[in-house]
Amino acid sequence: MANEDYYEILGISRDADAGALKKAYRKKAVKYHPDKNPGDKKAEEMFKKASEAYEVLKDPEKRAAYDRFGHAAFQPGGTHSAGGGGFHDPFDLFREAFSGGGGIFDEIFGGGGRRTQSSTGSAAGHDLRFDLEITLREAAVGVEKEIKYRRPVACGSCNGTGAASASGMDQCSTCGGLGQVSSNRGFITFQQTCPDCRGSGVRIKNPCRECSSEGRVTQTSKVKVKVPAGVDNGSRLRSQGNGEAGVMGGGSGDLYVIIHVKEHEIFERHGDDLFCEMPLKFTLATLGGSVQVPTLTGRVNLKIPQGTQSNQLFKLRGHGMPNVRTSRRGDQLIRVTIDVPKKLTREQQEKLEEFADISGDATNPIGETFWAKAKRFFEDL
Ligand SMILES: [Zn+2]
Ligand SMILES: [Zn+2]
Repeated sequence: MANEDYYEILGISRDADAGALKKAYRKKAVKYHPDKNPGDKKAEEMFKKASEAYEVLKDPEKRAAYDRFGHAAFQPGGTHSAGGGGFHDPFDLFREAFSGGGGIFDEIFGGGGRRTQSSTGSAAGHDLRFDLEITLREAAVGVEKEIKYRRPVACGSCNGTGAASASGMDQCSTCGGLGQVSSNRGFITFQQTCPDCRGSGVRIKNPCRECSSEGRVTQTSKVKVKVPAGVDNGSRLRSQGNGEAGVMGGGSGDLYVIIHVKEHEIFERHGDDLFCEMPLKFTLATLGGSVQVPTLTGRVNLKIPQGTQSNQLFKLRGHGMPNVRTSRRGDQLIRVTIDVPKKLTREQQEKLEEFADISGDATNPIGETFWAKAKRFFEDL
C-alpha cells in the first residue's frame, strides 16, 4: 500500500500530542535505522515511512490538513475545493480572512487537545472561533449579522461514513469488528484501540472520493448571529453545533463568536456608562442656555446653567449602554470644556474689552478664590 496511514505507521492515536508523536517516531527510527539493519530492505522501507509520517505530523498545519484530507492533502492539484470557495491549498484553511468586518477565522478551542476519540472511532468536532467586529451603536441596540466561515461538514455523498456505498464497508479483520484488540503481558491484559480500523470496527473497501474517506468536506457556511444589546469587547456568543462536524457519527463542535467593539469617535465606554467630552462656547458657559447633545440613540437637549465651569460634569440619566443581562441602561456623562475664541473681530474685541472694564478685570485678572488662597500663602511666609 502506497498510502498507509501515518498514525498507524507510527503506532499512535489520532489525538496523540507532540510529545507522544516524537517518542513514537524515535522508537521506530531506532528500531529500523539502516545502520542497525544492514541489508534489510524491509527495515529500510519502514524507516523511510516513519520519517515521512513524522515530517507531516510534527507540523501542526500539515497535520491538520492530513487529518482532513488524508494523503490527498499532499498531492499536487488536489480536488479539495469543496464548498465552492475555490481554495486549493488546504494549508490556507486557517489563514483565510472572511468578509464582514474582516473577521479572522481560526481554531483555538480545539488544537487537538479537546477532540477525543471514543472506542467506536467516532470523534466530536472541534469548536470554532469567529471574531466579529461591530460598532458601538450596534452594541447599544443589538444587531443581527450573517457571518461566513469555512468549516468541515459531514460529507453529503457518503453521509459521513467515508465509504462510497453501504456495501463498501467491511468488518475489520484485525479486531473482528470490536474496535479493540487485547494483548497479554504476564497476568495483565491490555486493551487498546484497534490500529487497523482506529476503533471503528469497519474497514472501508470502497472509499468515498468526495471526502477521501474522511467523512467530512470543508465548506463555506453562513450563520446568522443575533448580537444582543449591551455586548462588550470580548463577549462570547455560542452557536451550538455550528463548529466542525464530528468524525464517524461524533457530534459537531460549537461556534464561538467573539465580539469586538470598534472604538467610537466621540464616546468612550466605562461599563454601562458612556463618557464624552464636549466643548462649549465661552459665551454659552457664561450666560447659560441649552445645547443639543449627541447620544447613541439620537439628540437630547441639555440645559447649561449660567456660569458653567470648565471640566464640569453633566449626566444624562439612562442614555448609556443597556446592561446585557438586566437591560438596565447606564448613564451618559459629559465633561464640558470651555471653547475660547482664538481670533476676534474688531467689534468682538471692543465689546469684550468693554466687558472687562465693567468687570474690573484689569485690576483683578486672576480669579478671586485663587487670589485669596495666594494671599494666605504669602502671609504664612
Ligand atoms: Zn464522503
Ligand atoms: Zn479493527
